[in-house]
Amino acid sequence: MGHILAIGGHCGDMEFTCGAVLLKQAKKGDKITLLHLTPGEKGHPVMSPEEYTEQKMKEATTAAKALGGDALFLPYKDGELPVSDEVKYQIADIIRELKPTTIITHWKNSIHKDHANTHLNVVDAIFYAAIPGIKRSLPAHGVKGIYYAENWEDPYDFQPYVYVDVTEVFEEWLEATSQYALFAGGVSKFPYKDYYKSLAVIRGSQCGAKYAVAMDIEPMGKKRIMEYLP
Ligand SMILES: [Zn+2]
Repeated sequence: MGHILAIGGHCGDMEFTCGAVLLKQAKKGDKITLLHLTPGEKGHPVMSPEEYTEQKMKEATTAAKALGGDALFLPYKDGELPVSDEVKYQIADIIRELKPTTIITHWKNSIHKDHANTHLNVVDAIFYAAIPGIKRSLPAHGVKGIYYAENWEDPYDFQPYVYVDVTEVFEEWLEATSQYALFAGGVSKFPYKDYYKSLAVIRGSQCGAKYAVAMDIEPMGKKRIMEYLP
């Protein structure tokens, strides 16, 4: 069985974008972990960041359980996630401890610095985790697959490359993700629920499914090697 580690800049990012894939994989028997680098606690129109941190962490824990996984948190602040070796080694140590087969995180180009910084930290953390010559308390671990989620804030040069049919888990994913007030509505002017439902319809239409989630991979991975043309 695999273990998928989804790493988001804010609580909610991974659930909204690829939560349906996580749920589908969990039902297949994979272990699922969601790692949130910040709570995303500064976006509430009324609640203080402290109150909203508490709410977001509760929502993340409930949503992770509903998606068949567990939630982990790093203690960084919304809007203030640095790109640093401290963050990279924290993530690398988690990778060495959990030994995920697959990691899903943000695409590199984003309007939100926490998302772009998450990408940079995670890519280096995967490298640090895999190098035996980098001595930490746990031995090295290499991740097999790295995928980038399709997030409305990370659109520049994102190409939908891998499509996963999520029709069979779609309603359950909607219910799980609606644990977040941000997704259900009323916190942000951005229509999260409508957007990601519609996106699943669009990606599904493009691959012959009712609902699908698309992800991107590193450009280096986009090659097909053939002996002869068919
Ligand atoms: Zn975010």
